Formats: sequence, structure tokens, C-alpha cells
Amino acid sequence: MIDKIDIASMTKAELCDYFKSIGEPKFRAEQVFSWISRGTPVSEMTNLSKALREKLEKCALNTLPTVEEKLVSKLDGTVKYLFKLYDGACIESVLMRYNHGNTLCISSQVGCRMGCKFCASTIGGKVRDLLPSELLGQIIAAEKDSGERISNIVMMGIGEPLDNYDNVIKFLKLVNAEGGLNIGYRHISLSTCGVVSGILKLAEEDFPLTLSISLHAANDEKRSEIMPVNNKWKIAELLSACVSYYKRSGRRISFEYTLIAGKNDGISDADELGALLKKAFFGTGAPIHVNLIRVNEVKETGFKKGSEESVKIFADRLSKYGIVATVRRRLGADVNAACGQLRRSNMAK
Ligand code: SAH
Repeated sequence: MIDKIDIASMTKAELCDYFKSIGEPKFRAEQVFSWISRGTPVSEMTNLSKALREKLEKCALNTLPTVEEKLVSKLDGTVKYLFKLYDGACIESVLMRYNHGNTLCISSQVGCRMGCKFCASTIGGKVRDLLPSELLGQIIAAEKDSGERISNIVMMGIGEPLDNYDNVIKFLKLVNAEGGLNIGYRHISLSTCGVVSGILKLAEEDFPLTLSISLHAANDEKRSEIMPVNNKWKIAELLSACVSYYKRSGRRISFEYTLIAGKNDGISDADELGALLKKAFFGTGAPIHVNLIRVNEVKETGFKKGSEESVKIFADRLSKYGIVATVRRRLGADVNAACGQLRRSNMAK
């Protein structure tokens, strides 16, 4: 149990209430909120009185992650961070540089309990949820370390964001807030393995986020085999939740499809996927997009990737159904132990 106050997870309104409760003026909230978003430790918040700084240092939790390990790609400058949290747990974030700005891929949990068979992050199960301040802290820590601004966020690191719903929502409000990092919702995408209840709830929040669905199979039998979440919510239910999300948000839906040799990467799989998406979305007006990526081989899972050619054939086949598919460019190929592997290798030390 944490007995300290997590001030970095507080909205400005909550900070106002907090400072009021300790007899401080309300404008402290604005000051502290701004310091937090720059990653300034309490001891260096120079516009607070020394007495207040000492008081905060005693009772406030410092959730800003520290860099435990850092791998920089020689190919494209992608940086893979292993961040250490206040309790010693580690997570990964990846900084990718594109022409349109820097994107940070962040983790949402320490470990994951969703059990996808190809994924390294879920092998040891879930340890704990990340706090809103730790979700935000990954961006702040990466900005501090790189000296560069991060303009886009993808929630595609370790963990299932919709399995840490309340903290993720709070984080989204914090990251979007004026006087803080002020990153627009349109610059954020959230990836889910298909937690339908969470997708429907998220639609009601009216954040214009891009939703990304990890689909990876075009029928329930195959999907349930590799993604246990499919036993709870079947593909039809998932796609219908996506249509609802589109209707409410007006945002394009992205699908991630990881190609695993001999499992889901054949022509008949492409046909099945094309027909499935066409049936679910055409006529709804929802723009959709499929990202294809060959599976990252994780030694514990035994799944293998197919040839580069097989991805192109798969994408071409999908286009016959009017589906736009891109083959995801792999940034940081030389530092990219598949997501979750850096944390695992560090745990084994
Ligand atoms: N839990 C969320 C976000 C984290 S996983 C989700 O499932 O979407 C981020 C993406 O990486 C997902 O699309 C996931 O299916 C994919 N992924 C996980 N392990 C992989 C691997 N070994 N190779 C390729 N993609 C993988």
C-alpha cells in the first residue's frame, strides 16, 4: 500500500482541493501542475516556499520513472527505454522518430493478464496497474532524457489499457490538460486486444482517440486459440463495438494483424479477413485500416514469422476487398526485442 500522496496523478481541480486542505492558496495548483509536467522534483519547485517544499517532499510520492536501461537504434534513432518505477518494477517505452514528430509507445500495466499466446508481456502475468502519474511519467521522463518534445502517443506497450480503465482515463485527461503536456486526443491511439466493455465505455467519454484493435485472426476458432479474450467477447461483438465507437467518435478504426507463419498468414486467411471486415463495416461509413506486421519471434512461444513476400501477398489480397492495409515499418529493428522482452531479460538478471 502506498501511504504517500500521488500528487502527479491529480488534476488541477484535485490539486486545488489538496492545497486548500493543507492551508495553501489555490494558485499553488497551477504552479505544481506545471512543474510536474516538466518532471521537476519537489525540491526544485523554486516558486514554492522552502517550508512547503519540505512538507511535500515528506508526503508526496515520486512516481517519475527513471531510466534503468536504454537501447538506441543505429538504424533510425529509435530509443527503447526500460524504466524503473518507484517500487522497483520495470516497464518499457519506445521513442520513435517520424517526419511528423516524435511518438512514444507507452506501457499501461506491469505485465499483463490477457494471455495472448504470441506475446512476451503476458508470460509472467500481471503484477500491477500503472498509476495515472506513471502513465504520464513515461512521456515526461522520455522528454527529459531525449531533450525533445513528444507529440504523439500510442498505448501499445506492455499491458492492456482497457484492463486499467480508470487510471487510463485519468491519464488521458492529465496529458490533454492545458498548462500540462497538452497533447491532443487526436494524437493519441489506444490499442486493445478486444475488451468490449471497455470500448463501449470509452466511446461514452467522447475523447476523439484513435482506437486500434489487435485482431490477429478472422474467425473465432483461430482467434480464441491465440487470444483468450476472445472466449469472453467474440469477433462479432468486438466489431459491433467498433462500429459504435466510430458512430460516437467519428474516428477511423485501425486493426493490427500479426502474421504468424502457418497459423493466420495464408491466402484463405486474407480472404476470410477481407470478407469479415467488409461485411462488418461497409455501409456504416466507418473508415478502417489494417496494419500488417510479421510476428516478433519470442522464444517461449514458438511462433515463427513467414517471408516478407507473404506479407505483400496478404496485403494485396485484402485490397481486393477494398481494405487498405499497410505493412508496418519496423522502427528500431536492431533494438527491438519484441515488446516485453527487455523487461523479461532484466527480471532474469
Ligand atoms: N494489450 C494491447 C496493447 C499492447 S500489445 C493490445 O493487445 O492491443 C501491442 C500490440 O503488439 C498488439 O497488437 C499485440 O497483439 C502485438 N504483439 C504482441 N506480441 C507480439 C509479437 N510477438 N509480435 C508481433 N506483435 C505482437
